[in-house]
Amino acid sequence: MIDSHAHLIWESFEADRKAMMSRAEEAGVKAFIHPCVHTRDLPQMQDLQKQYNNIFLSAGVHPCHAHEWTENCQTDINHFRGKLFAIGETGLDYFHKDCPIETQKQVFIKQCQIAKKLNLPLIVHCRDAFEDTLQILRQENISAGVMHCYTGNAEYAHKFIELGFYISFSGCLTFKSAHELRESAQNIPLKNTLIETDCPFLAPQKHRGKRNEPSFISEVCQTLADIHQKDFAQIAEITEENTKNLFVLQT
Ligand SMILES: [Zn+2]
Ligand SMILES: [Zn+2]
Repeated sequence: MIDSHAHLIWESFEADRKAMMSRAEEAGVKAFIHPCVHTRDLPQMQDLQKQYNNIFLSAGVHPCHAHEWTENCQTDINHFRGKLFAIGETGLDYFHKDCPIETQKQVFIKQCQIAKKLNLPLIVHCRDAFEDTLQILRQENISAGVMHCYTGNAEYAHKFIELGFYISFSGCLTFKSAHELRESAQNIPLKNTLIETDCPFLAPQKHRGKRNEPSFISEVCQTLADIHQKDFAQIAEITEENTKNLFVLQT
């Protein structure tokens, strides 16, 4: 499996990061896509990447931090450009009211344009903002990316897939109450599906409320296998191939 969205530099991993990475390996996680909440995190991400060559970096500014975008962010991205596999996470978050919508949109558009220029896929965070997200992706002519931690319906998913996007499921898929999301997942083709943890957030049902970590991705994989009536190994293989294709990984 590949964890297509893991915040491994997070402070809550400080005490046991090495053990956490070993548990991931034992669970069958072969690689990680490391999203970026703010470009100022890039040096720390690179330090970790030097210790683990199966971590692949993305650069961007999260919509909840969009008001912190400065010219320096562009400079940081340029500085790391040869080492990047994606731009993000970017997108729109209308649930958390951390940042004005207009600012979020401007910073999202900026990052769409950077992704296009660098020919990199986009990691899109979208919370309660599916219509506006779709509109911006269309307007900016974006044709490669992932809707990470997807919580929308199948109808929107198909519209994102039409653009060339993948749909990534996190621990949210395993929540007891997530019947609608599981129903949506059933109607989203596996060839367009990825899995992720979004750790340290959103631990799956069996660990709900605790710190999430990459080894818990097995629960997401198993849930997706149950939904599609496939084997765990088949889902692991398909989602791994999809992740490699999207981010052009040579692993
Ligand atoms: Zn996110
Ligand atoms: Zn994230």
